[in-house]
Amino acid sequence: MTTVAPSPNRPLQDSHGRTISYLRISVTDRCDLRCRYCMSEKMTFLPRSALLSLEEIAIIAERFIARGVTKIRLSGGEPLVRRDVGELVKRLGRHVGRGLDELTMTTNGNALAQHAEAMVDAGIRRINVSLDSLDAETFRYITRYGDVDRVTGGILAARDAGIAVKINMVVLKGLNEDHVAPMLAWCVAEGLDLTLIETMPLGQIDEDRADRFVPLPVVFDRLSAQFPLARDSHRSGGPARYWRVEGTQTKLGLISPLTGNFCETCNRVRLTTEGVLYTCLGHDDKVDLKAVLREQGVAGLDAALDGAMRTKPARHDFDIDAAAPAVARHMSVTGG
Ligand code: SAM
Ligand code: SF4
Repeated sequence: MTTVAPSPNRPLQDSHGRTISYLRISVTDRCDLRCRYCMSEKMTFLPRSALLSLEEIAIIAERFIARGVTKIRLSGGEPLVRRDVGELVKRLGRHVGRGLDELTMTTNGNALAQHAEAMVDAGIRRINVSLDSLDAETFRYITRYGDVDRVTGGILAARDAGIAVKINMVVLKGLNEDHVAPMLAWCVAEGLDLTLIETMPLGQIDEDRADRFVPLPVVFDRLSAQFPLARDSHRSGGPARYWRVEGTQTKLGLISPLTGNFCETCNRVRLTTEGVLYTCLGHDDKVDLKAVLREQGVAGLDAALDGAMRTKPARHDFDIDAAAPAVARHMSVTGG
């Protein structure tokens, strides 16, 4: 067998022939909400001493850019609760157009109104905002603490500042199934996109996710009876498949990891706030990049990234009916 020596700027390719061009970074596992499908009410968070410093996150991200990553998404937890996140956005924003095609963020929108202008200045042009219902009571129930007016206010402020906003909505049986059509109508009226997501078995929560699971093909059939939907070839670099609401600017995306596996085209890896690189959302294969960086310096990162590529699994094996979640860590740890 011939071994290929890792060359510093060789693109990242896994052993299934997929090129990795998309890095998601969880900048904090903390959050100011407690969405019921995401975490339990009494969630324990990492001690601050365990986190990567902002400088370390930037160094690792820049090594990924040198290795061909063209899209970075900052996520969490809630990225906007990390005090120094603005500095990170500014630093990574300098790479947009110079190696990086896109710097983006997924946020719960709570603090969006005050950050929107700075995000635009730093080069962010698109963001995803979680909004599981427009109904104040339902939104409060799902998020446990959320105020829907504050989030919609942040969304419209971001849009008015020039950021394209895509709403992320996890569809939940008995909670917001009937709120999908009104959400799509609102997105059409406000010039936003909407992506629907199936609930995934990641980390223990206070209820059984199987009780809330809704297969998206069912939701899609209902929506297509109410809206003129045409298949759209748009690729965002993520796992969604898209439709356009005809006669409008709005795209509808579906992320259906349970009913429609998309692993064949996976181009993503995820860095946790502790500096651990996970090569699949649904498996435990990982490399501790914080340890590598602290013990060997930047020089050690290339070999570590090559090693990670060799272990990236072919696909996740999510089963919503399994007795235990597919992995113990929550989406907030790996960054959604
Ligand atoms: N706090 C930010 C937010 O809510 O947008 C960013 C992090 S959150 C983990 C990222 C996305 O993951 C959100 O759209 C959220 O709805 C989704 N999410 C969280 N847990 C999930 C789960 N178990 N299954 C499916 N989606 C989940
Ligand atoms: Fe927080 Fe986002 Fe998880 Fe909701 S989905 S609890 S906002 S990290």
